[in-house]
Amino acid sequence: MIVIVSGPGGVGKGTVVSRLLELEPDLWLSRSWTTRARRPGEPPDAYVFVDRSTFRDRIDAAGFIEWTEFPGTGELYGTPTLETPGDRDIVLEIELDGAQQIKRRYPDAVLILVVAPSPDVQQQRLRGRGDDDASVSRRLEVGANEDLLGRQIADYVVVNDAVDRAAGQVAGILQDHRAGS
Ligand code: 5GP
Repeated sequence: MIVIVSGPGGVGKGTVVSRLLELEPDLWLSRSWTTRARRPGEPPDAYVFVDRSTFRDRIDAAGFIEWTEFPGTGELYGTPTLETPGDRDIVLEIELDGAQQIKRRYPDAVLILVVAPSPDVQQQRLRGRGDDDASVSRRLEVGANEDLLGRQIADYVVVNDAVDRAAGQVAGILQDHRAGS
């Protein structure tokens, strides 16, 4: 099973995914590549951080199952060709354009859209990450579009009002899927 956790920036999908992995340790989280610079305090393995030409080389070598230029910032992000250990279920934490590419390629993938309880909360979360004002504004703009489109194409919408509750809801969705319901 491929599980896509998507949603606008600042909704806390990374935190929900971290909690989900604690609840469901057998899930395997794919590590994306990006051309964006590492944020202060961000773990070095949060992404594979590369320059643009290295990223382009990997595109040319068909090394991504999806990739996108993030409209908020112009940075490139991509999911490398999957090398799952064993038969573990895979989690992708990606934005919506990539989510659509994955759904086209793997129609059985489950798309879970995480949304913030309110635009104010989303804005506070974005500012709290230390991005500059221009970047926060661009990400909010992109996020509003992602929210609209996401609600149309997602299999499930999960409101991140509290991380434990939201992650628990996602775990429940996955269990139902495994059970074939
Ligand atoms: P950030 O710069 O805040 O880490 O990520 C910006 C956006 O890119 C987030 O919505 C994040 O989920 C998304 N993203 C991270 N990795 C990938 C990826 O491999 N592919 C795509 N399409 N989006 C990604």
